[in-house]
Amino acid sequence: MKESHPRPRSFSLHEKACKHLVGGVNSPVRAFKSVHGSPVYFAQAKGACVTDEDGNEYVDYIQSWGPMIHGHAPENVLDAIRETMEKGTSFGAPHVGEIEMALRIKARFPNIDKVRFVSSGTEAVMSAVRLARGVTGRDGILKFEGCYHGHVDSLLAKAGSGIATLGIAGSPGIPQGTVGDTLILQLNDEEMLEHAFSMHGKTLACVIIEPLPANNGLLPQRPEFLQRIRDLCDEHQVLLIFDEVITGFRFQQGGVSSVLDIQPDITTLGKAIGGGLPVGAYGARDEIMSQLAPEGPVYQAGTLSGNPLAMAAGSAAIDLLDNSCYDKLEALGIYLEDSINQILSKHNFPFNLVRVGSMFWMSPPSDDLIRSAADIPSESGSRYADLHYGLLARGHMLAPSAYEIGFLSTAHTRENIDDLCRALDSTLIEIEVKT
Ligand SMILES: *Cc1c(COP(=O)(O)O)cnc(C)c1O
Repeated sequence: MKESHPRPRSFSLHEKACKHLVGGVNSPVRAFKSVHGSPVYFAQAKGACVTDEDGNEYVDYIQSWGPMIHGHAPENVLDAIRETMEKGTSFGAPHVGEIEMALRIKARFPNIDKVRFVSSGTEAVMSAVRLARGVTGRDGILKFEGCYHGHVDSLLAKAGSGIATLGIAGSPGIPQGTVGDTLILQLNDEEMLEHAFSMHGKTLACVIIEPLPANNGLLPQRPEFLQRIRDLCDEHQVLLIFDEVITGFRFQQGGVSSVLDIQPDITTLGKAIGGGLPVGAYGARDEIMSQLAPEGPVYQAGTLSGNPLAMAAGSAAIDLLDNSCYDKLEALGIYLEDSINQILSKHNFPFNLVRVGSMFWMSPPSDDLIRSAADIPSESGSRYADLHYGLLARGHMLAPSAYEIGFLSTAHTRENIDDLCRALDSTLIEIEVKT
């Protein structure tokens, strides 16, 4: 087995890691459990490409699961980190970098008056929910099946991401009382929504949703559905949280909220805002944020929050995001969508590339756009595994799960996409021969 493995060094490192790290990894989806094989050990990453420990190169469409909107290790972000680190790597005290970063976020999220920085998307969501409960004095949460909001206890029910990949409904270790206040609905269903509000509207602190769900496939929502949520929240004095950890800064306008002009009460951010360093953030209007300590009674803190390196990397990454970047990402996206779908249909392979901006998903075929987790056929996973394996062997790294989306960065090129198409063509020929 060892000798025949296509990536012997990755394979033996994984064997070693499994003795010291749970499943050999620090985040479950990295284990490649839902596709053939074992994880690829990255040695180095630059631009659109990564190099593994065996010296193989791949064009990377995972891009650290979203943060690397400029590709890996962009020079101006590295410069900002180098320059900042010479002055100290953690202060535990206020510094100018936090103000600069907050200004950059507010410039693209007009409904945010004040920002609080944390160190991950999970932390941002967890704190936003606490704030919503503190502000409203209610406990109830309404979430949607397939939306992933980090590994927050009260939201780890019917979530996407690793939960979908590993086929588990929730997680042991979460008390019944904690999820007891969480209501779960299907996406794209106004009728159920109205019903839920009529039954529970008075006890809900917040509704939380990814306005463009992107952790259980890519499930674009109808604006009317999101607007209905907004209206019902207003009618029942329920706070609306848009979790834009994955979508924030993926659009010229900022987030999905600005694209659709539907404003949440609280926004959570992460991933791309950190320039590759650990950052999360949440923000809202003044009257909501003023309930947070030290101005108000809702407590939330962090030793490394607002870390100077993370703020510098984030600001540098955001500064690179001028309009030409978004034009480039959109043009690349269209090119990817058209060329991949041509090859998929040429081979009659039962997938269809669905794309919004620089985010894409190999979706099972469907007459209409799939908008709800319940509409994803459960048997699509194994076909995706064949595809993933064939592309990986040819130097193209797509997410090792049928439920995770892919990302384009400004470092990708049309040539990368042409190469991907050739690889897809020969992968599908190989699959046809085998079956
Ligand atoms: C990734 C993600 C999170 C969790 O962020 P982490 O930094 O992984 O904790 C939360 N919500 C959404 C929408 C995400 O995509």
